[in-house]
Amino acid sequence: MATYKAVQTKLNPDKRAREYCQFLQQESARVWNTAKNFFWRTYRKKGLWLSSPSLQKYNRSDQLYPDEQFCLHSQSIQSVAQQFSANLKATREVRKENPDIRYPYKMKKYFRVQWKAGAIKVKGRNIIFSNGLGNKPLKLRLPRAFANCQPKIVELIWRNGYWLSLVVKVDDKDNVIGSSVAACDMGEIHAIALTDGYEALIISGRKLRAVKQYRNKRVAQLQEAMSKCTKYSRKWRKLNCTKRRIMERTRRRIRDLNHKITTSAIQWCIEHGISTIVIGDLSGIAQCTKGRLSRRIRQKISQWSFYKQKEYLLYKAKEVGIDVIEVSEAYTSKTCPRCGSINSPNNRNYSCSNCALTCHRDVVGAYNILSMYRYGALVPDDLFSYPTPKYLRIPFQAKRRSSSSPDGGLMVAKGHKSMCDLASATNR
Ligand SMILES: [Zn+2]
Repeated sequence: MATYKAVQTKLNPDKRAREYCQFLQQESARVWNTAKNFFWRTYRKKGLWLSSPSLQKYNRSDQLYPDEQFCLHSQSIQSVAQQFSANLKATREVRKENPDIRYPYKMKKYFRVQWKAGAIKVKGRNIIFSNGLGNKPLKLRLPRAFANCQPKIVELIWRNGYWLSLVVKVDDKDNVIGSSVAACDMGEIHAIALTDGYEALIISGRKLRAVKQYRNKRVAQLQEAMSKCTKYSRKWRKLNCTKRRIMERTRRRIRDLNHKITTSAIQWCIEHGISTIVIGDLSGIAQCTKGRLSRRIRQKISQWSFYKQKEYLLYKAKEVGIDVIEVSEAYTSKTCPRCGSINSPNNRNYSCSNCALTCHRDVVGAYNILSMYRYGALVPDDLFSYPTPKYLRIPFQAKRRSSSSPDGGLMVAKGHKSMCDLASATNR
């Protein structure tokens, strides 16, 4: 079975290509506006809620999108209408909970352009998109890594510069051999702690936090400077541009870090023959925090990317045939795995006041999630031996990805001797 994956790459088009990209995005927006106007006009006049197929009608008797009207490939036009229908559907779902949310009503100036396989030709590093009969095709240059690829779908998007999003076929990865179960505790400082009961892996999230702190600080500075000038003035625009650039850059860094973190977690699972990962259910954490927690901690929780990490972990686990199961996380970080007494750790080390167990807090969390899965409750274990943790952190300077690196660009932190190593020696 072949798997498909979306990859993104930044383009560096010359002036002419850039102008053509802009024109095509305007055309795409024109399709959106036409579909939107047609939809609402039909609804107003005839009271009909048009379905997706009738909005996608291309060059039929009703001539919603007559052939010569847009400089786009017919499938590109259809994809815009599909997106519009999908947005309507999604809004309808959200409106059940929150009726204030509006259906798409704004006129668009630009919109992403999508091409399907039939309209794409790749020759070496050149990619050529067809824009319908009689219209000029769009020619772009791909990065070397994408030479002779066969994308299924390509999208031209704007992200402070033109980007291509390509859906390409990827080789099937080896499926895991093994039947062990590992538990995974997600945290803010240590992004992921994994344990199978014997060994443990802790992946640092400090770099991630540093990127977020940098962004918050810079954006706040710029925001303040912007509040002092007249809105839309030249200076304001300049500052706004910088702000957007920083937001975009940090967004990409965060995404990259989240990918590296989850990839190395999966890598560890493959090496240890894990067939099931148990994760704590964190779905309620970001709700009802007002008044309960301080402003700073609330900001941290709201910006903590556990949802993204979970999403990445889920699909990466699926790719290699690992099941992911969620269990309740209540008290897993507080209960002592050896005697079952409850302690509130206030730093990174967990120490039990009852049986004097000292170990890493997130490993305790992961271990308890594991016993939650095994026994359905937190069962104290007299023979609890502290799984030896291995630390991983992401290199501080972002490196170009090299395919030879076995652990996905991660390295083992050297000289990171903590309390845990000492504790594990004494606990044996
Ligand atoms: Zn204890």
